[in-house]
Amino acid sequence: MATDEKPALDYRDFTFDMFMASAEGEESEAVRFSQWIDAGNRDRVNSFEAARLGAQRTELDVRRADGVGLHFLNFSSYNYLGYAAHPEVIAAAKQALDEFGLGACGSPVQAGTLDLHTRLEHRLIDLIGLPNRGVSLFSSGYAVNTGTISAVMQRRHHIVVDKSAHMSIIEGAQLARANLHFFEHNDADHLEAILKEVAPAAERVLVCTEGVFSVDGDFGALDRIVPTAKAYGAQVLVDEAHSFLLCGERGCGVAEQQGVLDLVDYLVVTFSKALGGVGGALITRSEIARYVNFFARCRAFSCALDPAVTAGVTRGLELGGGSDGRERRARLHRNAALLRGGLAEHVDIGRTTSWVVPVIFGADRLGVPLADWLQRHGLDGSIMMFPAVPADEGRIRLFVSSEHTEAQIAQCIDTVRRAADEFGFLGKPAS
Ligand code: PMP
Repeated sequence: MATDEKPALDYRDFTFDMFMASAEGEESEAVRFSQWIDAGNRDRVNSFEAARLGAQRTELDVRRADGVGLHFLNFSSYNYLGYAAHPEVIAAAKQALDEFGLGACGSPVQAGTLDLHTRLEHRLIDLIGLPNRGVSLFSSGYAVNTGTISAVMQRRHHIVVDKSAHMSIIEGAQLARANLHFFEHNDADHLEAILKEVAPAAERVLVCTEGVFSVDGDFGALDRIVPTAKAYGAQVLVDEAHSFLLCGERGCGVAEQQGVLDLVDYLVVTFSKALGGVGGALITRSEIARYVNFFARCRAFSCALDPAVTAGVTRGLELGGGSDGRERRARLHRNAALLRGGLAEHVDIGRTTSWVVPVIFGADRLGVPLADWLQRHGLDGSIMMFPAVPADEGRIRLFVSSEHTEAQIAQCIDTVRRAADEFGFLGKPAS
């Protein structure tokens, strides 16, 4: 593949179908994509995959692929509670590294299960506080969804998914090869209409939704979706990736906050967000957890979580499930309200009511120069373009944390306002 050829493209002249397989020649889509990245690097606008030079703190230094070094405010990481670099979390991880070594060196169903994993499972069960619950640990949040859904659902079953659900849920459903249906976002009436049709004849139905939606930052209407699913005998999976430890009295997430935690059959959490690590867990009835442990292929045929991360996440869970977590959650909620309130005066932030705050700039092709402009003006956000969102709904997602200061939030709002002026997306939506 000729990645070192002189770039033939202007980085602004792209359409995503350019990067799809075509009959043009071997790996033509990869060559074209590479040329596009080269063009962005040549013009020094490529902000993707800029290498962080330290932990995900609220301010950091990066070195981009084009060689540019920058310092900016970090509103692009999922380190919502600051546990990624918390001294007690790091100390626990270091100790585990000394005692248990670098890797688990085995599948969890064979040699890879460590005492550390069992401790983490117990902590999760304690926090959830429901009887007869078990835990299945995975090496990513993504794998919890793909592994679980494809283990418990089969070709003759039905899976009904919120239209805005995460790719890992959709991919899990595809892996299961079950009948896949989508209901309009958060629309319990539409869900009911689908269930009315499929549930009576179906052997098994699974409804999948989220706690806080990762693209728009709005809350799942679990208080309506979950009872509707139950009324038709369906099981429910709730992905609390962006809400576990971030809301609810005990930090269990949106299902707890909306009073339906005990009705959720498959509670999915990740360790990569509030816990600042990596990995994830399914919390479910204990006999199902046992089954998933062995029958989720990406778990049984893959190495267990590493010792340092497992111990760090466990310490984070102890902190996050106690008074430290309550204080951080209160700060997170205050900071999120500050950020949303400040931005909503100037730009379209869609329907967010959480700590995931999208700034919707519209036209896809603004994405690359806008992300570059923001980084050069001291702010990093997480860019999202087609096919993750419709082509005219490009957005920069800002992830606020309990650790951002008021001054940092004010600076973030001001920088976004200036960017909106510069790129022409200043102004709230019409309605
Ligand atoms: N579910 C949702 C809703 C997510 O937003 C994400 C990642 N952003 C995942 C699952 C995957 O989690 P992880 O990054 O821990 O694999």
